[in-house]
Amino acid sequence: MKRARKYYEGHAVGIDLGTTYSCVAVWQEQHCRVEIIHNDQGNRTTPSSVAFTQNQRLIGDAAKNQAAANPTNTVFDAKRLIGRKYSDPIVKNDILMWPFKMREIAEAFLESPVRNAVITVPAYFNGSQRKATIDAGIIAGLNVMRIINEPTAAAIAYGLDKRSNCASERNIFVFDLGGGTFDVSLLTIKGKVFQVKATAGNTHLGGEDFDNRLVSYFVKEFNRKNKLDISSNAKALRRLRTACEKAKRTLSHAVTATIELDAFFTGIDFCSSITRARFEELNSDLFRECLETVDRCLNNAKMDKASVHDVVLVGGSSRIPKVQQLLQEFFRGKELCKSINPDEAVAYGAAVTAALLNGGAKSTAPDLVLQDVTPLSLGQAVRRDVMSVVIPRNTTIPVKKKANFYPIKDNQSYMLLKIYEGERARASDNNLLGQFKVSGIRPAPKGHPIFACYELDADGILCVTAEDKSTGNKNHITITNDKGRLSGAEIEGLIEEAERYKVADEKFLEKAKAMNALDDYVYDMEKALIGSKLFPEDKKKLNSAIDKARTLLDDGDKEKKEIHVFVEYLNEAKRIFEPIKARTG
Ligand code: AMP
Repeated sequence: MKRARKYYEGHAVGIDLGTTYSCVAVWQEQHCRVEIIHNDQGNRTTPSSVAFTQNQRLIGDAAKNQAAANPTNTVFDAKRLIGRKYSDPIVKNDILMWPFKMREIAEAFLESPVRNAVITVPAYFNGSQRKATIDAGIIAGLNVMRIINEPTAAAIAYGLDKRSNCASERNIFVFDLGGGTFDVSLLTIKGKVFQVKATAGNTHLGGEDFDNRLVSYFVKEFNRKNKLDISSNAKALRRLRTACEKAKRTLSHAVTATIELDAFFTGIDFCSSITRARFEELNSDLFRECLETVDRCLNNAKMDKASVHDVVLVGGSSRIPKVQQLLQEFFRGKELCKSINPDEAVAYGAAVTAALLNGGAKSTAPDLVLQDVTPLSLGQAVRRDVMSVVIPRNTTIPVKKKANFYPIKDNQSYMLLKIYEGERARASDNNLLGQFKVSGIRPAPKGHPIFACYELDADGILCVTAEDKSTGNKNHITITNDKGRLSGAEIEGLIEEAERYKVADEKFLEKAKAMNALDDYVYDMEKALIGSKLFPEDKKKLNSAIDKARTLLDDGDKEKKEIHVFVEYLNEAKRIFEPIKARTG
């Protein structure tokens, strides 16, 4: 009992679980400031690496330091895999060690147990990746109070400084180029409200890609000089990669960097150098790609670059001079904000959020309200495969929205709900997230509604519940499976695709509407026939009109038919049925 109380009274930490490095921070209530917690090696960031040797498991610096000697049993970069399907269960378990290590580091520093934590993830992590991160935290013995997006956390760190002169709205652009992922976000700060307006990114772009370019460059050079190919020698490659990363960092403050590797391959030493200009040339397409993503994010938010007040740099790779130069040119010479340490800003923001969630009004942390948005519209397929949006794209989360859906036929005993995300008018052109059935629906005409509730939580995880209110029969689905939500690049692709197919989609919708209108009218005509006292010739006319409409609607060639065919036939059916209705009342 005593132990449990101590846990909950303890500190709540913010954890930046980075692809290459991780960082943990805490809000010191008594000093009213964030403290970045150093690890057992005295470093403020810890490599996100796990390694196995014959008889022990190494984490962080210890794992990274022995990587060259033990390349095949050292796992790095695995955040790129988190929440995705991969076969090796050992690898999966290792990833779970990072939050554990982060908790240990925090507990050693604070000299008390740490239970509560806020963990950050790239803005474009999908539902299953977020869920996997929460699970990793739970296995590490942490109560994950909230998952927040890395750029949002960085904006918090930065925005706290800026709020004093923030009476009106301030637009902040966060450029986060890390080791393995690239995220950009546009936020507005007004008073204590931080709102994410738009996000974009690439889960496979970062410092390691720049390292890879250097590695291939030097592999070729070594081959040219020595006629030896090292590309399948894991140990040599690992040593070269470490040297390249170091050279890359050097090139951020010097114009040349050297590589010196003694007894590199078959006893041959390898000594070489590279200029900053060559490095920039090797990576020019990747740097350009970063700028294209920046542009897309602004377009998504429909904001002109001139309206951005601050451009904030986050992530180790944002130190690269060429990246800064291109970004500054893009924002027409605007000074970039570098006042916060790019390696620590994310953990800093997470620590503030953790203190607020943990201590509430009692916390001395600066008060703020976080509002993230959903990157794609969420909804379900309705009649004729039309996407019926329940939560539109860019809606602030958490959000709960209700909607009614209608069975297509009379006395339908069950209803299948297919949940999609995307911007296309035709549901099946979007990304199917999952499907479920509500059974035991009370026999009723087709207009009888099924009530659905979409709940997207603050961690970005979607739960859809559907209920037949008349019987109380309900069912639900939580979207966390591996076939779940889309990644950054896929989301970008979907949004672009929706733009490209806008005209075709409008046509599809118009046709679906025309077909539905005819279908509804036929339904009314059929109802009129049941038990009515129509004249025999009216009945005959109606039956033939219904037959013709049904043939039209059910025809295998209906896809090829133009909209006007359905509109015209609806008018013809009206010319037949309306006078009959008028006569019979
Ligand atoms: P992060 O994921 O934010 O920890 O960023 C780590 C990445 O930043 C790694 O790929 C590092 O090689 C890279 N990095 C760190 N410092 C520098 C620097 N001074 N110049 C270029 N890249 C750097």
